[in-house]
Amino acid sequence: MAILLPPLPFEKNALEPYITSLTLEYHYGKHHNAYVVNTNTLIKDTELDTLSLEEIILLTANDLTKTSLFNNAAQVWNHTFYWNSLKYGGGHPTGEIAKKIDADFGSYDNFTKALKEAALGQFGSGWAWLVLMDGKLSILKTSNADTPIARGIKPLLCIDVWEHAYYLDYKNARADYADTVIKNLLNWDFANRNLKG
Ligand code: MN
Repeated sequence: MAILLPPLPFEKNALEPYITSLTLEYHYGKHHNAYVVNTNTLIKDTELDTLSLEEIILLTANDLTKTSLFNNAAQVWNHTFYWNSLKYGGGHPTGEIAKKIDADFGSYDNFTKALKEAALGQFGSGWAWLVLMDGKLSILKTSNADTPIARGIKPLLCIDVWEHAYYLDYKNARADYADTVIKNLLNWDFANRNLKG
């Protein structure tokens, strides 16, 4: 069973001017696609080729002989989650997640500060996450391909902070990219669905 590249949940120009179609051409069309191709190459003709993407990630997360497969499979999953975490407009949270952000972070401003700190504080390539841990919202950062689902932690939203996510639009200014995503692109409907699910 081949792992598929899911369609983007929006048109390539839907996030402009915050994230351009040029970035998405490369980030989705080249980078995300390459992780899919690599994963399929690595599972081809092995016992792993009947497993789901999530099963492959869990099975390889702590296996040092399968680091390449873990990295590629986790990057497939993380990118699909990232596209779903984005929606043009963004703004303040709504519904249950809004209440929970006030309860667990004290305020929306505290939440944005913590998420931005994670996005900037991740040394090198990686991800910043809003997650649900032990019933409470929390902010995490992970390196390279690492993903909360490998540790049984439920992600609600993520921001890709690999340079390929922002270099074409923001050059080296990761802070401007993180600010823009946090203010204008977070998909609170997706976060609410994840919170319920
Ligand atoms: Mn990426």
